[in-house]
Amino acid sequence: MTKVFIIYTGGTIGMVNDAKTGALIPFNFEQIKENVPELARLNYEIAVHSFEPIIDSSNMHPDQWKNVLAEIIEKNYEEFDGFVILHGSDTMSFTASALSFMLKNLAKPVVLTGSQLPIGEIRTDAKENLITALEIAATKQNGKAVVPEVCIYFDNQLFRGNRSIKYNTEKFEAFRSPNYPILAEAGVQLTFFHKEILPVPTKNFYIHTKFDANIGVLKIYPGMTEAVVYAVTRSKVKAIVLETFGSGNTTTAKWFTDALAEAIKNGKHIVDISQCQRGSVQLGMYETSSELQKMGVISGFDMTFETAVTKLMYLLAADLNTEEIKQQMESPIAGELTN
Ligand code: ASP
Repeated sequence: MTKVFIIYTGGTIGMVNDAKTGALIPFNFEQIKENVPELARLNYEIAVHSFEPIIDSSNMHPDQWKNVLAEIIEKNYEEFDGFVILHGSDTMSFTASALSFMLKNLAKPVVLTGSQLPIGEIRTDAKENLITALEIAATKQNGKAVVPEVCIYFDNQLFRGNRSIKYNTEKFEAFRSPNYPILAEAGVQLTFFHKEILPVPTKNFYIHTKFDANIGVLKIYPGMTEAVVYAVTRSKVKAIVLETFGSGNTTTAKWFTDALAEAIKNGKHIVDISQCQRGSVQLGMYETSSELQKMGVISGFDMTFETAVTKLMYLLAADLNTEEIKQQMESPIAGELTN
């Protein structure tokens, strides 16, 4: 019998209204089972591990990616055919990106899902999301998982986790994958787009659990002051995600480029990603980015913010030299960018 392991972390999917304040608060997973009697009818053996305590995903932390998620998956990897992680949507793309770098040679599906409405509400999107996520986690062809990836299932679409962003707080369609096609679509049938899905690896699965969260973020805007820029470039962070205009451009004001060059000279890694959600950074395309390229700014190509942050955390802890970090940041290591 197919075996699926569910990890319940919290989020709206399992929330109820607090009787006193009316605010949404998390509740115990047992109630999810009560609310989805269909789970008992699925022909899978299902095991559940619940976070203790369950959390709103805004409180997710790299320690939990490691201590709870990656290690639980590792512990149960051989025994189960797939994994479903129930997670708040707010930071789901960060967790999915982080896991895509932690779970090496993943040959089984790890499907994150959640919902926009609590599972107890009559119009909830939680049941469909949960049931189809379980189905995706269980799907095999010729004895092999059809989606051997960390992915996000939400509102009838399956996204590569490290390509996804939360883009809508109000619609059921909470996620998008602006720079990569969807991996599957749930209509009357569940259709998988096989050529978009990563191949099943041949090497053995293992987990990488080190993260270094010593990262700064600099989102640029016209009129940005020196004090704001220096607060990041002269801070103690080891790497900076620079969110730039268009295809990777910044002001060419000397004080600004000098601040970046000084940070690089002091050993910081600077990764250029675009404020545009669609398309890629192309360093050197305009004069306003060729200076960045010359001083050694790393191109983030079409990576999402979530992926640039988690990939940097992963690489910073991987004992690599500057050249190796640049080379790995600029190459896909889990299907996260197109260069
Ligand atoms: N604040 C909630 C969370 O991320 C929202 C959700 O679950 O969608 O945990």
